[in-house]
Amino acid sequence: MEEGLSRLIETLKKHHPDADTALVEKAHAFAKKHHGTQLRASGDPYYHHPIAVAQILADFKLDTSTIITAILHDTVEDTDVTFEDIEREFGKEISKLVDGVTKLTKLELQSEDTKQAENFRKLLIAISEDLRVLLVKLADRIHNMRTLHFIAKPEKRARIAHETMEIFAPLAERIGVQKMKDELQDLAFRELHGEEYKSIINRLEYLRSSGGKVVDKIVADLKETLIKAGIKAYVSGREKTPYSIWRKMGMKNVSFEQLTDIIAFRTIVDNIEDCYKTLGIIHATYHNVPGSFKDFISLPKENGYRSIHTVVMGPDHQRIEIQIRSKEMHDIAEFGVAAHWAYKQGQQFNTDGKQYRWVRELMTIIEQAPSAEEFFEHTKMEMYHDQVFCFTPKGRLIALPRGATPVDFAFAVHSEVGRTCVGAKVNGRIIPLRTQLNNGDQVEIIRSKSQKPSPTWEKFVVTGKARSEIRRYVRVEQKSEYIQLGKNILVKLFKEEGLEMHEKDLVQVLPLLEKQDIEELYAAVGEGLMSKAEVLKAVYPDREVATKRKKLSILNRLKRHKEEESGEKKLSIPIRGIAPGMAVHFAGCCHPLPGESIVGIVNTGKAITIHTADCHELERYVDEPERWIDVAWEDDSNSAVFVGRLKLSLAHETGSLGTLANTVAKAGGNINNLRIVYRSTEFYEMLVDVEVKDVKHLANVMASLRAKSAIYSVERYVKT
Ligand code: MN
Repeated sequence: MEEGLSRLIETLKKHHPDADTALVEKAHAFAKKHHGTQLRASGDPYYHHPIAVAQILADFKLDTSTIITAILHDTVEDTDVTFEDIEREFGKEISKLVDGVTKLTKLELQSEDTKQAENFRKLLIAISEDLRVLLVKLADRIHNMRTLHFIAKPEKRARIAHETMEIFAPLAERIGVQKMKDELQDLAFRELHGEEYKSIINRLEYLRSSGGKVVDKIVADLKETLIKAGIKAYVSGREKTPYSIWRKMGMKNVSFEQLTDIIAFRTIVDNIEDCYKTLGIIHATYHNVPGSFKDFISLPKENGYRSIHTVVMGPDHQRIEIQIRSKEMHDIAEFGVAAHWAYKQGQQFNTDGKQYRWVRELMTIIEQAPSAEEFFEHTKMEMYHDQVFCFTPKGRLIALPRGATPVDFAFAVHSEVGRTCVGAKVNGRIIPLRTQLNNGDQVEIIRSKSQKPSPTWEKFVVTGKARSEIRRYVRVEQKSEYIQLGKNILVKLFKEEGLEMHEKDLVQVLPLLEKQDIEELYAAVGEGLMSKAEVLKAVYPDREVATKRKKLSILNRLKRHKEEESGEKKLSIPIRGIAPGMAVHFAGCCHPLPGESIVGIVNTGKAITIHTADCHELERYVDEPERWIDVAWEDDSNSAVFVGRLKLSLAHETGSLGTLANTVAKAGGNINNLRIVYRSTEFYEMLVDVEVKDVKHLANVMASLRAKSAIYSVERYVKT
């Protein structure tokens, strides 16, 4: 028997004495035969890989079906074998498992496709149907990572390592398989940050050699202390992984000085009671470092991890970290669901068990839109990083490219929805149409029959569909505007010339002017492609246009224009989209500033109130879309000064108000009103009105304030 196979069978039999080893041998022969002459990048026969994957799983005490699935896991994908073949040779259970693994592999391949939403569900379903599928996939990834250095192309190695770090390691962590997570992270870390990896390894070696027997001594001391107290315990010192050391260094900005900084001491006892007894003894013997004690037994981590962590000043006055747990807790910490699986061995796998709570949670999270972001957070499914998944109010999942806005969403739902979109609510809140959507957002499009796509939308949409629809609409719209304009120009000209314009006269000269119909003629004049004089001349060939008079009037207009320009800057409201003569005022609830998205609401009496597009007050007008008007700031609205309202809390101490005033002044703002809304012995809370140029300016003021230690918090004030 080949060495790989005999070792595998030996491990399997150790944990499962009555395993069907004949079937394992059969699977081995099957994989060997069908992978044939295929080779790995290392030059090894390909079938060595599935056997190595099976060995990893056997070490995790997994059952025969999982082992056989591992042996067969690449046959359908990479050889001429079909599921029917596998079902015939190895039965339904195994063929289903192999099918699941193959699906996951495909998902990996298609990660840059647009089918993610669907595949993503497939992934979840595959996981929730049988976790063994995921375990095989993780073991597969571990072996591929162990042999990563055989791959020649650095970009390919980096891509695989990155995927491992972002997807597979978090998945291993999520199902509590600490051991797999550690190895995956370490292997990926070594590839992605080779230099750092090396320097940590060197440092570890140095500490190990200079630290001498310090670890052994601490282990012996701890053991003795516990034995004296009558506790049966297994004590060990385990080095943290290079990756976890590196992360800790990065996050807490710490260096590691001595060996005890990187060793976690572990005390494994018989039961929960002994865990707490052990803790008591250790704390009675050594000084506890305040704030370091964590009890994950009474409050387990989400993935089921249970243990007590504490840091004490050890026998030689070094800080040492000690983990205390029972044997069962330890197995679950190391092997996660694999341990559960081993414990439950023989029973049919199902997701009802308490320990599989997270699977059901995942399913619920993905069903319940608002918290989907949480799921993406947890598993870091970077695979889908270029996309966002949003939901319609009825729960339909819409996949969009990252950066998509509610307008993209609306057009993706239906062209008609896009065309009539006037506003959007995300997770129940009105937001500006240009806002970028996030994963899991529930988007409700507010529509109005009279709405038309705005040309300004084109600036922020990211989907081709939305863009082309907007362009098409704008073209049609523009044409009708040109028609109207051209017609007005001609009517006016004829009138100025003391003539009456009749459409039938124009129709008669269409061939002369090379136009198909009267609309085309109007549009040409409106767009300036044809001069009005040319049209007049065609209808009345003998008439001279009063050109001189025309020139004069143009000169006059230019003159008037110049006078206006050079004169005092008008203090008109710098907002586009408002008809002249309409009264405008800025809402006191949100204090809109130039540079941010705004919405106009028509009040009775035709006055218009400008709100920020995310103002809560707008919710009151949701049912009256006809009152909404699309407005925007003029590009150069720098003539006026606006008031931004801030909510501040600052230290109740001498000088803090001075700091506030100075900081605002230094940032070019001006406080024009200030009101203390709450006063305690520690702090003030106040509303401050600051005169600024625009929203960017206000942001600068806020940033300067935040930099001051006397100022605890600064927020834009919003009426709620
Ligand atoms: Mn494989």
